[in-house]
Amino acid sequence: MTNQTALTNVKFSSWDLDPSILAAISEKGWEYVTQIQAEAIPLARSGRDVVGQARTGSGKTAAFGIPTIESTEANGNLQAIIITPTRELAQQVADELQWLQGDKGLAIITVYGGTDVDKQAKKLNDGVEIVVGTPGRIIDMSKRGHLKLQSISTLCLDEADRMLDMGFFPDILWVLEQMENRKQTMLFSATFPDEVLEAANTFITDAEHVMSDDLEVDIPEIDQMHISIGRANKLWALGRILVNMGDDDQMMIFSNTKRMVDLLSQRLSKFGFNAIGLHGDMPQNKRGRIIDSFKDGSEKILICTDVAARGIDVDGVTIVVNYDLPIDVESYVHRIGRTGRMGRKGTAWSFVSSEDKGQLRKIAATWNLNIPESEAPALPKGVDRDPIRKQQDWEEVANNFGMVPVKISIGSNQGATNHTLTNWFSNEAKLNQLAIGEVCIQDDSSEVEIHLDKVEAVVKVMANRVWNGDSVNLEIRR
Ligand code: ADP
Ligand code: MG
Repeated sequence: MTNQTALTNVKFSSWDLDPSILAAISEKGWEYVTQIQAEAIPLARSGRDVVGQARTGSGKTAAFGIPTIESTEANGNLQAIIITPTRELAQQVADELQWLQGDKGLAIITVYGGTDVDKQAKKLNDGVEIVVGTPGRIIDMSKRGHLKLQSISTLCLDEADRMLDMGFFPDILWVLEQMENRKQTMLFSATFPDEVLEAANTFITDAEHVMSDDLEVDIPEIDQMHISIGRANKLWALGRILVNMGDDDQMMIFSNTKRMVDLLSQRLSKFGFNAIGLHGDMPQNKRGRIIDSFKDGSEKILICTDVAARGIDVDGVTIVVNYDLPIDVESYVHRIGRTGRMGRKGTAWSFVSSEDKGQLRKIAATWNLNIPESEAPALPKGVDRDPIRKQQDWEEVANNFGMVPVKISIGSNQGATNHTLTNWFSNEAKLNQLAIGEVCIQDDSSEVEIHLDKVEAVVKVMANRVWNGDSVNLEIRR
């Protein structure tokens, strides 16, 4: 179901595009161009440098892909290069360019790590017109003499802000230096922090900027919510989201570490959920198989690191879960943008522990978003048990020192003092003094801080204890 607002009323056929491209597009069933395509393609066709910002899933690939294919000739010389931050994205962009060119006959070759160097060298030596790849292998192939950066006239950076951040910028500068004959440069992304635009100004002059006004990101219509939940119960909340999945849903679950991706896929399969993991430490052929099976819909649940946060286009993705909140604010926009593509609907859940509240506020403030708190979804009709049980989560109740406030129904009227109460706890529950924090005595009740490692045991031991003849009520305060 495509929401028509994703498209303009400009038809591809109203442009005098290369006939092979027009034929391919109409065979694909595309008729109208998207907003970014309407603005960027004519500029790029006229030879201008373009910095294009547009929401996730709005057709940026074709916005730089169509003019790139048009200006490239099938003559065996390398003329254009497109650089992406991940191998999966390089493959996807190359696939899209491949069908977009129709029968134009350009050799479009991917160049990324984890694949056989000799095979790749041979392909490049056989003649190539467009390369799509990641920086490391592009540099390697160039140094080995198989990839002639000197002959390239068109450079595109997809996810350009990522390509120009500290991690990749030195590599990109090296590549730029080799490209003595660069004539056109195109930068595309959904996010363009100011410092990135400044960095871009050092190597492109007089670019046309196609951007949303006031540089604010424009975020697709995605229902965004957060669940306040500590580490111990994230899996429970995920279970709730998973049992509510419909047959047509596909889900991406983002975590911040590769280890967590592995752990999560093991745990979920233990609970009977079919989920596959994807991260950068896996062998490339496995990464390829996994992303393919997710793209073709045979796998419904993908657990991944930010390796899949940018660019990956799977139109069936209806739900994104931030199992961990991302560390940088841009990632949030890109992660949730894996759903809600081309005007479709999507839902994004973020799990937020008490420690993460500040980061959530920062994300919401940066992008001017409302990410309201929600309960975990209820169990669907007919399901009466949680797929993954909820645990008492002392960490969520504890303060910064790991102390949990325990309320107790005895106070000064019952003869409690700081000293007698501390002694009573340490004797009855065999607690080390260090496990007892501040004690605050009121008239008929007191509050005693107990370390979170001990509080479970304390609750058990102290149940039904008596104090000077009164039985005692323990109550954990939140
Ligand atoms: P972005 O790079 O902006 O996130 P993509 O280039 O990945 O978006 O495009 C998102 C999806 O929309 C892709 O599946 C793409 O094939 C499709 N698409 C792009 N342009 C059009 C169009 N004009 N009409 C229909 N579908 C389109
Ligand atoms: Mg893209």
